[in-house]
Amino acid sequence: MSKPGYPTDLHTHSVRSDGVLEPAALVRLAAERGVQTIALSDHDTLAGATEAVGEGQRSGVRVIPAVELNTESRWGDVHVLGYFLDPADALLEERLRWLRENRGRRIELMVEKLNRLGYAVSLQRVIEIAKGGALGRPHLAQALAEAGHVRSYDDAFDTLISKDAPAYVERVGLTPSEAVRLVVAHGGAASLAHPGTVNGLPELLPQLVDDGLVAMEVYYPEHTAARTAELRALAERFRLIPTGGSDFHGRGEHGGPLGCAYVPSDTVGALEKACARIAEGKVGT
Ligand SMILES: [Zn+2]
Ligand SMILES: [Zn+2]
Repeated sequence: MSKPGYPTDLHTHSVRSDGVLEPAALVRLAAERGVQTIALSDHDTLAGATEAVGEGQRSGVRVIPAVELNTESRWGDVHVLGYFLDPADALLEERLRWLRENRGRRIELMVEKLNRLGYAVSLQRVIEIAKGGALGRPHLAQALAEAGHVRSYDDAFDTLISKDAPAYVERVGLTPSEAVRLVVAHGGAASLAHPGTVNGLPELLPQLVDDGLVAMEVYYPEHTAARTAELRALAERFRLIPTGGSDFHGRGEHGGPLGCAYVPSDTVGALEKACARIAEGKVGT
């Protein structure tokens, strides 16, 4: 790994969802790159948190247990990050399991569609590729590439499994408001991830703030300087804590290298304070 990263990265994925690295390997990479604090924010699961926190204690990296929740709505791709959640929270795990099972069911339906279209791919192989993590389209794309049905991983998305492609199946899941409320109900600080993928952000934000949103991912590798400035102003207007992260997956298709996004030095402290206010019942409805 070449140049060192920023000291904080609040958006990363491991193989427990659609990343490439085991949680411990991700933490070791952070240590190598000089990233001192990371949030492990796998999709719909805290399954990697305990391993990552343990490795963090060995290698001197602070690990914040987090999740990223995808949502379904007319607002485009609204993803909600939840920070400082408890991996031992059984009720939260129950909700996350429901989300993962829906996601798994969706992949099952996509496999059936692909088979009907003449692309032989087995659900078993997709499950193996996911290595016990939440099943997602990236695992399916890898299975399709491996079987030689497409030229590459990206090609699988482009021709078969992206929105409007022949084997696509809609997700069922939380609305953006439900995702924010779920995080708040379990004592976490909710941040709106990569707001650039949201349609109608200025209309959606006040709603989510009412639901208990306390932060927004202002700093993100795909944001231009102008976009970042715009989001910083919006965050100020709604008194949201500006968060930032790489969305590191270990693959090229989205996100950036670990520690590539600037994060203000007081962000983590502000998130902790927000959690304290949430614990006192002062945030959300
Ligand atoms: Zn996302
Ligand atoms: Zn992400």
